[in-house]
Amino acid sequence: MANNILEGKCCSCGAEIQKEIDRSINVGLKPELKDKVFSGEIFVSECPSCGTKNLMVFDCLYHDPKERFMVWLVPSRQLDMNQIQAINYQAKSMGEYKLRLVTGFRDFIEKTMILDAGLNDRCIELVKYVEAKEMGAEMGQLFYCGIQDSSLMFYAIKDGKMTSFGIGMNVYEDCMGILMRNEGMLEEEGFARIDAEWVEEFMA
Ligand SMILES: [Zn+2]
Repeated sequence: MANNILEGKCCSCGAEIQKEIDRSINVGLKPELKDKVFSGEIFVSECPSCGTKNLMVFDCLYHDPKERFMVWLVPSRQLDMNQIQAINYQAKSMGEYKLRLVTGFRDFIEKTMILDAGLNDRCIELVKYVEAKEMGAEMGQLFYCGIQDSSLMFYAIKDGKMTSFGIGMNVYEDCMGILMRNEGMLEEEGFARIDAEWVEEFMA
């Protein structure tokens, strides 16, 4: 976590790219970082040689002291479960903080947006699960991307094409009811991974 210069090569021309990064994203101290996370800009580096925008994902911790949550991004290739367990052990004393662990940059952006909006991310995973079942066809992974006209907005990427659609808040309310009736689904301990796999454990 020490090095704050990220190095990579341009995907288009191969030139060296150096980017100054902040692995600790505290939006209480630096509120301007919030939009950069939501837009994904934080992971984009422009090549100094050809101008191509490169995606450069790095491990980082998003911390919102006001809304009391943290989202930790550890790219899959860097995931070390022993380290996670050690940190989870310390995290038990974090009180009513919501702590989340994600391994993909889209999940990281989605998770911070959900918790920033004051939504329940377990409920959002359930909404996605229910919706995917309803649509039947292979939709690919769904991602929450905001609220519009009192609908929850989601997008999916299938064969490189992005589609977005809204889901009524009534579905969210129904899923909240399911959560409340299933105590096991509400347990909090350490940096939890609340994702499609998590919801399938309960619904399968
Ligand atoms: Zn380049």
